Amino acid sequence: MIRDKCDECGGKLVEKNVDFSMFGVMLGKFPAEVCSKCGEEVFTEETSAKIDEAAKEKGLYGLAASTTVGKSGDSLDIRISKKVAEFVNLQKGQTVMVHPEGKNRIVITF
Ligand SMILES: [Zn+2]
Repeated sequence: MIRDKCDECGGKLVEKNVDFSMFGVMLGKFPAEVCSKCGEEVFTEETSAKIDEAAKEKGLYGLAASTTVGKSGDSLDIRISKKVAEFVNLQKGQTVMVHPEGKNRIVITF
């Protein structure tokens, strides 16, 4: 146990194995301290390192990256990295749907 109270709400932390997924891909079960009140999950540094390891093995590491918005004509351009394109199997020329989800998120579906 690292601590026995939740940083967020002061609720009691309970040790549990939790399913951890990244970008919708299940990485497996990892030990965490879970708040019985708000559900906040806290991982030890050691466990976080194991999660990173598992993410790397599945080719998920480094998929979230920042990109700069460009301009083409009246529209804006956002580049999608090769890694992400390969992960979702997105091809040049493919038609996708782009829609906002709230004020700080854009969703691309295909
Ligand atoms: Zn809590």
